[in-house]
Amino acid sequence: MAKKVVEEDMVVTIQYTLSEEDGSVLDSSEENGDLDYLHGYEGVMPGLEKALEGKGIGESIDVTLTGDDAYGSYDESLLFTVSQGEFPDDVVIEEGLEFEAEIKDELRYCTVEKITEDGMVHINANHPLAGKTLRVQAKILEIRGASEEELDHGHVHSHGNHRD
Ligand code: ZN
Repeated sequence: MAKKVVEEDMVVTIQYTLSEEDGSVLDSSEENGDLDYLHGYEGVMPGLEKALEGKGIGESIDVTLTGDDAYGSYDESLLFTVSQGEFPDDVVIEEGLEFEAEIKDELRYCTVEKITEDGMVHINANHPLAGKTLRVQAKILEIRGASEEELDHGHVHSHGNHRD
């Protein structure tokens, strides 16, 4: 049997550390557990997929990613101002509120930056890590073929959890 490598339609489990240019750790397996994702479905940063492509179990990578290889550049056109009335009634609108909304035909992660006295809500729909240079150190722990259902959904169903 051929050696398993990271390629499209494989589920890959990695141990990882994500840090900023200055070395401060943003996220890691140590904190949040190992990460598994379906390769080739934009489940992780594009630059991370590229770096892992073709690698085998036990191999490691250490890459520094920026712009479109990471979470994209910071986009001023993703800053919005809307009135509080545009939010559902049951939502408590406050600074720092995070939510997902469809903006420019894409489901985006949004943050309420501030609420002005006239009741307008300033929203930033940039990914919190947009515009940052990120370093990823990762080791491949496991590679397996995805199930039909996973391929159909475009994401991993791990540990018995069906996330969506
Ligand atoms: Zn699913």
